[in-house]
Amino acid sequence: MFIIIILVFSILSFLLGLILSYTDYIFPVKTEALVNKVNDILPQSQCAQCGYSGCYPYAKAIINKNEKINKCVPGGDDLLIKMSKLLNLDKNSKDVNNHNASFVYTKVKIDEINCVGCSKCVLFCPVDAIIGAPNFVHTVIQNSCTGCNICILHCPTNCIKIVEE
Ligand code: SF4
Ligand code: SF4
Repeated sequence: MFIIIILVFSILSFLLGLILSYTDYIFPVKTEALVNKVNDILPQSQCAQCGYSGCYPYAKAIINKNEKINKCVPGGDDLLIKMSKLLNLDKNSKDVNNHNASFVYTKVKIDEINCVGCSKCVLFCPVDAIIGAPNFVHTVIQNSCTGCNICILHCPTNCIKIVEE
């Protein structure tokens, strides 16, 4: 009798182990697939305005850490709607409807009189919104600028200014 009990428990443990391993195997794949789907609809500006170092880390945080979906400034309301649909969230819920509530949307402009054409800003713009050749005046394509302000940090002559939309 004692041997049968041990045998039953051993078989049960084995089966439970198998189930756990299978769940472990399947679950990360599903999670990863969802992270990729979220990442696919993010703008890929890599501007870090969401508080993460880029779009993929933000996507990971949304899925793995329950991060709010309203932190991507360049994505705007369109992204919020897409993301709500993808994740089956109510876009009007208390959690997400404060989208950009305290955020003043800005872009930047280059003061062309003081631009020396060093081209440093061009190298750092994550969305290629700055055009200009070395030693010539540069300019910001307003439609492409996400207002991340990264270029400002890299302008040696302080000639990039924030402008409100
Ligand atoms: S704010 Fe949006 S575009 Fe910028 S890094 Fe975050 S997810 Fe990407
Ligand atoms: S703020 Fe500067 S770096 Fe950021 S998107 Fe606009 S031009 Fe590019």
